[in-house]
Amino acid sequence: MAGPQPVFRFAPSPNGLLHLGHAASALLNAQLASRLGGRLLLRIEDIDPGRSRPEFERAIREDLAWLGLDFAEPPRRQSEHIADYAAVLATLQREGLAYPCFCTRGLTARLVAEREAGGAAWPRDPDGAPLHAGPCRQLSDAERRRRVAAGEPHALRLATDEALRRILARGGGAAPGWDAWDPAAGDQRRVPADPARWGDVVIGRKDVAASYHVAVTHDDALQGVTHVVRGEDLREATHAHALLQALLGWPTPVYHHHALLLGPDGRKLSKSLGSTALRALRAEGVSAREVRRRLGFTGSP
Ligand code: GLU
Repeated sequence: MAGPQPVFRFAPSPNGLLHLGHAASALLNAQLASRLGGRLLLRIEDIDPGRSRPEFERAIREDLAWLGLDFAEPPRRQSEHIADYAAVLATLQREGLAYPCFCTRGLTARLVAEREAGGAAWPRDPDGAPLHAGPCRQLSDAERRRRVAAGEPHALRLATDEALRRILARGGGAAPGWDAWDPAAGDQRRVPADPARWGDVVIGRKDVAASYHVAVTHDDALQGVTHVVRGEDLREATHAHALLQALLGWPTPVYHHHALLLGPDGRKLSKSLGSTALRALRAEGVSAREVRRRLGFTGSP
């Protein structure tokens, strides 16, 4: 019996132009969706007001259309749904699973230096940032309320160990994790989540009432995404995503983290590397068919 129709998504952040690496990721999503008889959605991940620009969104959509990619629905734009992400954060806070963090960069640097004075390195998260070193988790509710009411800038952190404890304490609570899918081999392997590597991860930023982790997992659940195909630079983030999914009762999609396309210098392509931007190639007269061929995608997507 056929299961529910698979749902894939391509979820660019409009903070630069699409380059060949994005094209490869979008084309792979389209190819796998078509192979599995699934649908492919486009989601614009623009919750970062400091970096997202409408002109980049326009350029991204034009470039994707030029590449020949069709999406099943009009794109979902995350900036239009900040209130939904904020509601998730409010629930977590009410349930004692999230707390405000008032640490500044300066305070964190000082605390980390103090702890490292003894010789042992203070742990870093997979992005290289020190794990939460401040006293925020120990503050009383009254103190938190006072500082928030006074307008003190704060992020929101997940109480990660408490989140894990609650998940496991639920009747039949299974440890969070995900199925890593290898589309070439056609198999799946269970990966246990190890969210501790992110410590008390930031789930609400000082400048936005959300974070990438919350917005992406919320939307994958809301949109019924069954297959997440994205770059391996986001594999580590999946440890936090699987925890949030288990905590919030959201299904965990299957994940495939593909290798990143590297530049001639062996480093991952960045949006500032104009030479591989799809626009630049198009301006040089390279056709979409040629781009697909160079990336190993023959035929139409
Ligand atoms: N918006 C993210 C990015 O452009 C991708 C998110 C995801 O695929 O989970 O890097």
